[in-house]
Amino acid sequence: MDVERETDIFDVTIIGGGPVGLFSAFYCGMRELKTKVIESAAELGGKVAFYPDKVLHDIGGVAAVTGAGLIGQVVRQGTMFGPDIVLGQRVEGLRRREDGIFELVCAGGETHWTRTVILAIGNGVFVPRKLEQPGAERFEGVNLHYSVDSLDRFRDRNVLISGGGNSAIDWANTIEPIAAKLTVVHRRTQFAGHESGVTKLLNSSAAVMTPYWLKEVHGDGGRVRRAIVEQTETGETFEMEVDEVLVNHGIRGDLGGLANWGLAFEEERIVVDARMETNIPGIFAAGDVTSHPGKLKLIAGGFMEGPMAVNSAKAYLDPDRKVEQIYSTHHEKLIAMRR
Ligand SMILES: Cc1cc2nc3c(=O)[nH]c(=O)nc-3n(C[C@H](O)[C@H](O)[C@H](O)COP(=O)(O)OP(=O)(O)OC[C@H]3O[C@@H](n4cnc5c(N)ncnc54)[C@H](O)[C@@H]3O)c2cc1C
Repeated sequence: MDVERETDIFDVTIIGGGPVGLFSAFYCGMRELKTKVIESAAELGGKVAFYPDKVLHDIGGVAAVTGAGLIGQVVRQGTMFGPDIVLGQRVEGLRRREDGIFELVCAGGETHWTRTVILAIGNGVFVPRKLEQPGAERFEGVNLHYSVDSLDRFRDRNVLISGGGNSAIDWANTIEPIAAKLTVVHRRTQFAGHESGVTKLLNSSAAVMTPYWLKEVHGDGGRVRRAIVEQTETGETFEMEVDEVLVNHGIRGDLGGLANWGLAFEEERIVVDARMETNIPGIFAAGDVTSHPGKLKLIAGGFMEGPMAVNSAKAYLDPDRKVEQIYSTHHEKLIAMRR
C-alpha cells in the first residue's frame, strides 16, 4: 500500500509483543489511543516464550506464575481494548513525513503509519547463533539447519546435533527414534537441559560426545557430507560422515535496522529520560531495551515503564491537555466489560 487512508494511521504503534509491549497496549487502551502492536515472531509473549515452565515470583501482586501462565495473562490484558495485532513482521526502517507521521517499514516491505512509536523490543529479534566457520552458510537450508521445519527430513538419516540446552535435548529425543543414527555433541561435560530430557537421551541409542564441539562441516554440491568435531580439552579431532546437521547453539538478539534510526544507545540499550522519551521526538521506549539511571531489568520494571511511555505519547499527541492520573477501577469501558 503506497498511500494510506486516515484510518490506517495509528496514534501509537508498539514494536514488540513481549510482556512490556502488551501491557503498554493495555494502557494505551485505558488512554483511548488507537493502537497497533507489531511483533516479528509468529506468537506473542517475547522472551517469556522461551521459559514457559519456569515459575516467576517477582511480579508484584502475583505470588507465582509460570512463563506460559504469564503470557496467557498479558495477552488477555493487552488485547482487552482491541488493538491491532500484527504478527510475523519485523520492523526495520523508519521514515518521517513532513506532517510528522512516522512510516515504519518492515523487512517484507509492509508499511505502517503512526503518530508515535513505543519501542518495546527487548534485545531485538531473536536469531539463532550460527556456526562461525566461514562458508558454512552455503549448506544452510539444504542439510545444515538451525531450526526444524520438517521432522521428516531426519527420517532414516545419519544425523548430527550440536548443542546442550533444552532445545537441543528436546530435538535429540524427538529425532532419535526416527533417525538411522544420531550423534549429539556438546562442548561441556554437563548438559544444560532438564534432567528428565538428559536422562532420556543418555539412555537412548544416540551417540553422545562430550566435551566436543562442532569445529567444521565439509561437503560438496551444497550439501554437508562430513563433520569434524574436536575434544575441547585434548584438541583431538574426530571426523564423521553425516546426512543432516542440526545446530542448536542458542539465540541472540538482533536490533537490525533499528540500530540505524539515529537513536542514542548505551551498551546496546536505548537511552531514555525519566519520561521514557528517546532522543527522537515522538519515539518512546520501555522494557528490557531501555537504559536510564536506576534501570531495573525486570518485568516489574518494564510494567512501570510501559505506562510512563504511554502517558508521554499521550502528552506528545495532545500537548495542550494535562495527562491526568487514571485508575482501572474507575474506567468506564473496563467496568462495562465486567458487566
Ligand atoms: C530464562 C529467563 C528467565 C527469566 N526470569 C525472569 C524472572 O523471574 N523475573 C523477571 O522479572 N524477568 C525474568 N526474565 C527476564 C524477562 O523475560 C524480560 O525482562 C522480559 O521478557 C522483557 O520484556 P520486554 O517486553 O521488554 O522484551 P521481550 O520479552 O524481549 O520482548 C521483545 C519482543 O520484541 C520483538 N521485536 C524485537 N525487535 C522487533 C522488530 N524490529 N520488529 C518486530 N518485533 C520485534 C521480539 O520478537 C520480542 O517478542 C527472565 C529471562 C530469561 C531469559
